[in-house]
Amino acid sequence: ESRAPAAYRVVLLGASGVGKSAFCSIFAGAADSLDSDECELCGDEVFEKEVEVDGEAATVTLIDTWDSEMGDDQDCSIHSGDAYLLLYSITDRSSFLRASELRITLRQLRPPEHTPIILVGNKCDLVRRREVSSSEGRACAAVFDCKFIETSAAMQHNVWEAFHGIVRQLRLRRDVR
Ligand code: GDP
Ligand code: MG
Repeated sequence: ESRAPAAYRVVLLGASGVGKSAFCSIFAGAADSLDSDECELCGDEVFEKEVEVDGEAATVTLIDTWDSEMGDDQDCSIHSGDAYLLLYSITDRSSFLRASELRITLRQLRPPEHTPIILVGNKCDLVRRREVSSSEGRACAAVFDCKFIETSAAMQHNVWEAFHGIVRQLRLRRDVR
């Protein structure tokens, strides 16, 4: 039996400078040598790729077109995701507050039971410039009923865990439907 892998649209959200483009280039790039030549550049900031998570293939389209200058519910990318990676920088408290605002907008648009979100505290390599503690990040995610992970795109630490985590969250919701 050959079935096409499930396809998911994952949108990157977050203030300017938090690392969304860095996430995209890790997703698109040679970090995952198994899949690197299957990666397709579909547009400037949209990447489609087949990834294997827990032995099962999934087609992930990663969307990095969020325009932080527009009104939160104006930009079409916020309407287009099956799931969201909501990024802030642990070195920038205003980006953490921005993530909270975006989280509220998202929940007005999307019911939580169908739309997973992972709150991502990026730049965790910059320990001496930290402005948001891990426990604050975790507490915020708990209030918002979403998963939490700290990453470093610069060190390629936990970035694939975030991508795989969002696929797992999508599958959990698919399986109970
Ligand atoms: P975007 O505006 O959200 O797309 O952010 P970018 O991906 O363009 O990143 C903004 C800046 O932060 C760039 O100079 C990146 O090299 C840097 N950056 C991104 N992620 C990390 C990280 O995990 N650690 C460090 N030290 N720098 C990062
Ligand atoms: Mg960018």
